[in-house]
Amino acid sequence: MTKHWERALPPGYRQTYVIDAKSTKISIILSLGALAITAAVFMVAVLMIKPKDFFAHYSMSKYMLTAAAIIAYIILHELTHGAAYKLLTKQKLKFGFTLTVAYCGVPDIYVYRTASLIALLAPFVVFDIVFGVAVALLQDPWDKTYAAALLALHLGGCIGDLYDTCLYLFKFRDPRTLMRDTGPMQTFYVPEI
Ligand SMILES: [Zn+2]
Repeated sequence: MTKHWERALPPGYRQTYVIDAKSTKISIILSLGALAITAAVFMVAVLMIKPKDFFAHYSMSKYMLTAAAIIAYIILHELTHGAAYKLLTKQKLKFGFTLTVAYCGVPDIYVYRTASLIALLAPFVVFDIVFGVAVALLQDPWDKTYAAALLALHLGGCIGDLYDTCLYLFKFRDPRTLMRDTGPMQTFYVPEI
């Protein structure tokens, strides 16, 4: 069976890259990026769905439902990371949130590339399907638009996960690459040879 994680950093590894969502610079960059993705996706969706007569379809209950769905989504997104990490490592998880990010990490171990890619991408894949199906199946154009807003927020909210994924796809392609994920901070380690 493939080994998914190490308790301690094996000899011959060096730390190569750190991304800390709690640092001011990174949190501003990630937040602006998330906003840009959300706005772009939502605009494209509105142009495609073409919902009409905003004021005639004003519905407080749908706003409330959408707000509740956003909060539920943020929690479920982190729980999906947690489920993947738990299945792959069986180790203690750490959940939390700051003003700009919610997070889930597995702080006591070093996780190999494949396992960390699975944990990183699990919520992205699951909620692309959930919200994508909702947008496709809902009939009322405004219901579709609310679902599209959730999809847009989801895609923007995945920016940190997608950033780490890009690092794995383009920078750290060695399967022996290890990542320590404390939640808000990911540190990458690569073998020297
Ligand atoms: Zn995430």
